[in-house]
Amino acid sequence: MNKSTFPAKEKSLFSKGMQKTDKNPSNIIPAKLTMDSIIKFRCHPGVSCFTACCGNIKIILTPFDILRLRKYLNMSADEFLLRFTTPTHIEKTDMPGVMINLDEEGRCPFVTPEGCTIYPERPSACRYYPIGMANFHEGAKDGQDAERFFFKVKEEHCKGHEEDKEWTIREWREDQGVDLCDDMNREWMELVMRRKSFGHQATLSEEGKKIFFMASTDTDKFRSFVFESSFLEKYDIDQETIDLIKEDDIALMKFSFRYLASTLFGVQDITIKEELVKARVGEIGERKKEAEKKAEETYKELVKERDELKKRLEKE
Ligand code: SF4
Ligand code: SF4
Repeated sequence: MNKSTFPAKEKSLFSKGMQKTDKNPSNIIPAKLTMDSIIKFRCHPGVSCFTACCGNIKIILTPFDILRLRKYLNMSADEFLLRFTTPTHIEKTDMPGVMINLDEEGRCPFVTPEGCTIYPERPSACRYYPIGMANFHEGAKDGQDAERFFFKVKEEHCKGHEEDKEWTIREWREDQGVDLCDDMNREWMELVMRRKSFGHQATLSEEGKKIFFMASTDTDKFRSFVFESSFLEKYDIDQETIDLIKEDDIALMKFSFRYLASTLFGVQDITIKEELVKARVGEIGERKKEAEKKAEETYKELVKERDELKKRLEKE
């Protein structure tokens, strides 16, 4: 097996509470798997279907996918997004994201007859296949396996299931580097799930969508937003975090998830500076006093007018 060209992929990444590997439920084997369950699967250049699954797919990229891919390809976020992606909506939400552009034949731009040319940094979606994960606890942390289970997707064209290689789910995930993806994608996935659970009852403002898109796709722009706007004057961020996110892209990405949770969903994590809140409350108080004063004056004028009118009428 040529590890550097080992392909693995899926058709779609998200659905309610799970990372989904296929939209057709009949392809999902109806058995709950755990980390210790054993599966038989192997994908390698010798399978007759080699790279067959790198076409006619929708691969939504997570912020971590974009970050690692653009670094691997030595590109700015802008250049990467422009060359290789198209804006889309993250499945079943109004949240904007990006998916990989396919070529005229509907093939992934990174596939060659020899396999995946970006294999070491391939997207999360390509790593999960053919094992999906259902996670019913939004805040599940490592080790909380009771909150999640796995399932296998078996598609007709995929001959990897006919191979003899046996793995536990744990071994498979380790081999595919899935745990790191889960760890990096977790808070972002939680934002998407949170949005899904709100459904259409709550609208996300256009401004909110723009911020979500920027933070989810382009850490360069998000860094400028933090360091070249009034952001740091407005929000209460400790110096250690400021120093860290200035240099470290992963820390910045994780910080952007915290910011999105706070600004879009009201999570009390990144908060506006106390003095600004007080000043704002003071401003509101002043405006209220002004309005009350004006109302009082208007009332007095009306009383005066009424009294004058009364007097005139009495004279007549
Ligand atoms: S990124 Fe690689 S593994 Fe994923 S679809 Fe494209 S060629 Fe296949
Ligand atoms: S074995 Fe499955 S995952 Fe591997 S190339 Fe064939 S269809 Fe794709």
